[in-house]
Amino acid sequence: MTESLERVVVVGASLAGLRAAETLRQKGFAGSVTVVGAEPHRPYDRPPLSKKLLLGEWEPDRIQLRQPDSFDDLDVEWKFGIAASRLRLADQQIDLTDGNSLEFGGLIIATGATPRRLPEQGRHQHVHVLRTLDDALGIRQQIAEGGKRVIVIGAGFIGLEVAAIARQLDNEVIVLEGGSAPLIRGLGADMGAAIADIHRARGIDVRCGVTVDGLTATGVRVDGAELAADVVVVGIGVVPATQWLDDSGLELRDGIVCDQTLRAAPGIYAAGDVTRWPNPLFGEEMRVEHWTNAAEQGALAASNLLAVAGGEDAQPYAPVPFFWSDQLDQRIQFLGRSAPDDEVVVGAGSVADGKLLALYGRNGKLHGAFGLNAPRWVMPMRKLLLEQVSFDDAVAHAATLE
Ligand code: FAD
Ligand code: NAP
Repeated sequence: MTESLERVVVVGASLAGLRAAETLRQKGFAGSVTVVGAEPHRPYDRPPLSKKLLLGEWEPDRIQLRQPDSFDDLDVEWKFGIAASRLRLADQQIDLTDGNSLEFGGLIIATGATPRRLPEQGRHQHVHVLRTLDDALGIRQQIAEGGKRVIVIGAGFIGLEVAAIARQLDNEVIVLEGGSAPLIRGLGADMGAAIADIHRARGIDVRCGVTVDGLTATGVRVDGAELAADVVVVGIGVVPATQWLDDSGLELRDGIVCDQTLRAAPGIYAAGDVTRWPNPLFGEEMRVEHWTNAAEQGALAASNLLAVAGGEDAQPYAPVPFFWSDQLDQRIQFLGRSAPDDEVVVGAGSVADGKLLALYGRNGKLHGAFGLNAPRWVMPMRKLLLEQVSFDDAVAHAATLE
């Protein structure tokens, strides 16, 4: 089916890259597959890094994305600890940091994202980011014994998940957020404020609307005063890892710009956190920084690459985006999208009940659904989002939930 395609290179050896390689083989691709990964590790799962691994309940061997003894089954050439440094599109070649180059017939880019840092962050040993296994083990070592003062900058997903674990381990925790509430981009201001209150009730000092002026040798300078800290974790978002593509000719705009089928250029697909594509279901261009998206896009990018090489049609990626987050003993789940000006209605339950479903409406349609400890309420909303039901109908449906 794909005689014209002999050699596929995947850049990025994490969730999206692994799912791409696995799918190439599942779909019967018999040519060569090379996966290049900048980290020295085999693909591992990131969500536990800010949860059970940080807590010390799990060790690194629990978070492998594929069992060590099944790697050879894929018949893939793995290049760990080596990064792609340049894409030469016209030559169909990728330069690597070890001085070698790779030729490709098909390319899947799954380089994810890297944490934003504060100016001069690298000078301070007590200041950390959390993206990799090594980052997580470094922070764990600092907070495991408790009794430290931990300052978390940014009340996004990293910030709140780390704050929750650090508090569980009996540290004093302060969270500093520039916006008016945590998680505004993911959940909107109202639900973000509700989450802040849950953290405060557990003794975490969540401060919103503050300005972090900078880092010092012993803490953080915030709104003109110095706050001492033993450990600082900076969780102020990520940037797509596209620097190595700067002169490639691919269109880059806060990610790799793709079409609906995740195609960036003929024979070149992108998947995961690095990918910007128009989601036809929502009529929005998006870049999603969550697990399910990376797994699904990795698989679809690979099957679309093979389909087109074999003269078949590629499939659009038209999902209802989904993420979860575990904080303290609370499970947050979100389906769809939220935007700052969405109408937000609590459809069932309440924070006081410990169980809640909130619906997000946009242009008269259901746009998103947020569940707090309510998987049986929130997950069926996927069907309503796929059917693009009106916001009024969704709210009426939620009122029937028990
Ligand atoms: P990544 O996982 O970022 O992997 C990209 C890989 O490419 C990296 O290994 C990187 O080193 C490598 N790379 C980068 N540049 C190059 C290059 N030039 N050459 C070669 N290799 C390169 N999502 C949820 O839905 N729920 C959660 O609870 C959740 N928890 C999370 C907790 C943490 C601590 C983190 C960091 C993320 C979490 N996420 C969660 C998000 C989810 O893990 C990501 O969306 C997912 O990892 C993205 O996968 P990816 O393969 O696109 O990119
Ligand atoms: P994030 O979710 O984008 O949150 C960053 C937060 O920091 C935002 O609230 C942001 O506010 C704030 N911020 C930005 N600059 C700041 C500053 N100078 N001072 C104080 N606050 C500042 O990013 P993240 O929490 O760093 O997470 C990194 C990545 O890991 C993301 O891709 C995330 O999706 C992923 N992750 C996901 C999960 C999950 O899905 N459960 C868990 C952990 C990590 P503004 O929005 O106003 O800029």
